[in-house]
Amino acid sequence: MTIWNLGSINADHVYSVPHIPTPGETLAATALSRGLGGKGANMSVAAARAGARVAHLGAVGADGGWMVERLRDHGVDCTHVQRRDGPSGHAIIAVDAQAENAITLWPGANRDIDLDAVKQALDRAVSGDLLVTQNETNSQVEAAALARARGLTVAYAAAPFEAGAVRAVLPHLDLLVLNEVEARQLSEALGTSVEDLPVPHVVVTLGAQGCDWIDTASGTRHHVDAPRVAAVDTTGAGDTFTGYLLAGLSEGLQMPEALTLASRAGALKVGRHARPMRFPRERRSSGRPSEVARGTN
Ligand code: ATP
Repeated sequence: MTIWNLGSINADHVYSVPHIPTPGETLAATALSRGLGGKGANMSVAAARAGARVAHLGAVGADGGWMVERLRDHGVDCTHVQRRDGPSGHAIIAVDAQAENAITLWPGANRDIDLDAVKQALDRAVSGDLLVTQNETNSQVEAAALARARGLTVAYAAAPFEAGAVRAVLPHLDLLVLNEVEARQLSEALGTSVEDLPVPHVVVTLGAQGCDWIDTASGTRHHVDAPRVAAVDTTGAGDTFTGYLLAGLSEGLQMPEALTLASRAGALKVGRHARPMRFPRERRSSGRPSEVARGTN
């Protein structure tokens, strides 16, 4: 089974600053690092690290070759990553000594994905494959509808949260993943509880408290604890969790086992004390087993 990920690819520019700049202030950064980020890329990397077969559907600008290379290094199939004329998506991230941050995001090529090319790529998908999207690209709804019609399992991570975006994609989903805050926002926007959403499976992540899985068909709610770890950096926990969850499902795990795998990966990401399970596969990425992606958003 292949995980098709219509997802963002960002260049993260991380500036260490003495404090977050105030309006009108010019501040010299003390360090700069650049890395691969974007919710889509983070999920692709996480799923590939878990051993899943992942094909990324997205776009970078003329400046984005290194990001595609980085994805490939992690074992992600980038055959269908498009090249656009404008700039790649990127994030300008200021981080102070207390780990507070301020982020400016430019979507760039992520919102300029050619839908026809996505459709052509999905022509290669087979029934039983999985499509995942998030809210950092264009054409999420069209891709979800097409994939569902072709017999793929369709998953959506509702971040960055926008009630209208979730509402539009909802009819095409098999699985919705969102955090506690997003779940509350969605309930308020739709005037319904997550238990009553027209989606077979809803997973609400709860940070250190783990996650809840709602099987809406049977109306049951199951809780999965997160491993206890000393949190070092909670950035990107959700993307890692979702990537591993999808990898587990694509490898044939049932939801409880896939959620356990995802919880261990999420905990590893924030605390680096746990070790996620991996599936044996020859084409696994060359990264060290205990590493997970260093995405920033
Ligand atoms: P982010 O936006 O930072 O990527 P999120 O809000 O989407 O994260 P969280 O609910 O914070 O997602 O975390 C996702 C999962 O990661 C949790 O369900 C849990 O399994 C794991 N996790 C997150 N924080 C911790 C923690 N402090 N200790 C253990 N596990 C954690």
